[in-house]
Amino acid sequence: MPNGYLGKILWVNLTEETFQEENLPEELYRQYIGGYGLATKILYQNMPAKVDALSPEAILGFFPGLLTGTVAPLSGRFMVAGKSPLTGTWGDSNCGGYFGPEIKKCGYDAILFKGAAKTPKYITILDGEKQILDASELWGLDAVQTEEKLLEKYSRAQVASIGQSGEKLSLISGIVTDKARLAGRSGLGAVMGSKKLKAIVLKGNQSINVSDKNKLLESTKSYNESIQNATRGAVAAFRTMGTTFGNTISFQIGDTPCKNWGGTKEDFPDERLNKISGPELLKFKQKSYGCFSCPVQCGAIMKVPEANIEETHRPEYETCASFGHLLLNDDLVSIFAANDLCNRAGLDTISAGGTIAFAIECFENGLLSVDDTDGIELTWGNSNAIIEVLKKIITREGIGDLLADGCKIASEKIGKGSETYAIHALGQELGMHSPKYYKSMGASFAFDPTPGRHTTASLDMLAGGPLMKPNGLFDGFSLPEKFKRRGEDRSEAEKLIAGLWQSFNSLGLCEFLAFYLQYPLKELIKSIVGWDLSVNDLVKIGLRIQTLRQAFTLREGVDIINSKLSERTVSIDYLEDYKGYCEKMGWNPENGYPLKETLTNLNLDFVVKDLY
Ligand code: SF4
Repeated sequence: MPNGYLGKILWVNLTEETFQEENLPEELYRQYIGGYGLATKILYQNMPAKVDALSPEAILGFFPGLLTGTVAPLSGRFMVAGKSPLTGTWGDSNCGGYFGPEIKKCGYDAILFKGAAKTPKYITILDGEKQILDASELWGLDAVQTEEKLLEKYSRAQVASIGQSGEKLSLISGIVTDKARLAGRSGLGAVMGSKKLKAIVLKGNQSINVSDKNKLLESTKSYNESIQNATRGAVAAFRTMGTTFGNTISFQIGDTPCKNWGGTKEDFPDERLNKISGPELLKFKQKSYGCFSCPVQCGAIMKVPEANIEETHRPEYETCASFGHLLLNDDLVSIFAANDLCNRAGLDTISAGGTIAFAIECFENGLLSVDDTDGIELTWGNSNAIIEVLKKIITREGIGDLLADGCKIASEKIGKGSETYAIHALGQELGMHSPKYYKSMGASFAFDPTPGRHTTASLDMLAGGPLMKPNGLFDGFSLPEKFKRRGEDRSEAEKLIAGLWQSFNSLGLCEFLAFYLQYPLKELIKSIVGWDLSVNDLVKIGLRIQTLRQAFTLREGVDIINSKLSERTVSIDYLEDYKGYCEKMGWNPENGYPLKETLTNLNLDFVVKDLY
């Protein structure tokens, strides 16, 4: 067996109720690494072009990274991948917790679903035994109830499931693990719901071979010790408050949007802002929580009696911003409640908050009335109304049905100029980071093959940490000297970051490590897989992955170059930025199409016939 990876994937056909294993050649891993790198190749070649994302022909895959399941620090993440029913583009969503490593323990580098069951099903893979089982008793339960019920039956298993939002095909729904970790973006919960797949239950005992165990332990120990010893900076902030350390500072510097992206600091003054600060959230903390093989443990388990919540995960910064600042809501208990409702229903908090912000602005401007909102006074900062509307989005009742597929679709239904208030990129609500602050975020939001995401390789955000210094994050990787100024160096830097980031994601690494300390990437890959890969090799592999993500989106007929952001969100010519990036990527800057020679150079010749 090869080192680091298992060499095979599992196909589950839900129509025929069959399982089929497929062995993958080593060359495929060398070219695509693992994780969503593998996903791009497998989905591109197996999914028909322009498929309805909610049809049986659509494929949904779960892909742990190449390092996932080993002790390599911060490597426990996995990707869910498919076509996004929300944007019509390539769809993926990253998730932490313990589910990703369990896929590897079950002996697979990926589990993929095709077809659709006629009645609700769940699958189990338990110590090598695979079954497709009736889920009618689980259908209708939220994700926490589902997981608890399944764990009563299958102790020490890992579960991924959908809540009511995925069942009801809400296009802003995701997939839940660890009772609260969501693969939230891209609407992939609806894809799982369309297949009538309620849950996946995994328990395995397969170990992962590594090339040099001593070296692996040495590199891991040394990095983990540096993390433990860090008492200041990003590590300390994440360890204490998780991402919520940004709740106040990000707003003060102009990064966090407010009032549906149309507000100013005066709309949410300090006395209100401070009510939802990281330290305020800490008052509810019971204990720390973290993903598999992570020395930071940035999560927290909270108890919120004021919201009748016995146990819940700490809301992330994104959730606090989308249900707080964006709605001018300073009622922290309501943010806990919204977070818990979304986690249980399997609803993306960014999109849910963004869509409610849209609805509030419609209401405030007379485009929606109490007749449309089932009597709810949907005004800025009205926390009771926010929770009421959220509950309706989950059940798809009344106003909730109008809003359950995101703000773009809702605005198309409302009309009357409401699209001005719909802040999205190709249908997906934007992450809670302003392109007016992180300038590169404009092009990332508008044009990435998965639009609207703050976790794509956006230069200014990632280069705020150790990446800014030569060799600061990875030995052998430096950004061009003048990357902060617009011009050649900046476009080159955007290309390098895009390449690096795709490999990074494909390895299963947590994005937050970009803000921590120098990471022994080369050493870990060598000690686990045995490959002598330089960071430049990883960049080249990443460029292949990014180009294939792009090709997937273009093959779907998406006019990516004409994706536009609301003027509220941007302050620079982000299209010009993108054109510079396209030139460096070897893509046509007029339409984003990868050039034929680029496809050939990246061993993507199979794409040419689809795009030309
Ligand atoms: S830093 Fe936080 S999100 Fe990242 S792997 Fe660790 S616990 Fe998970």
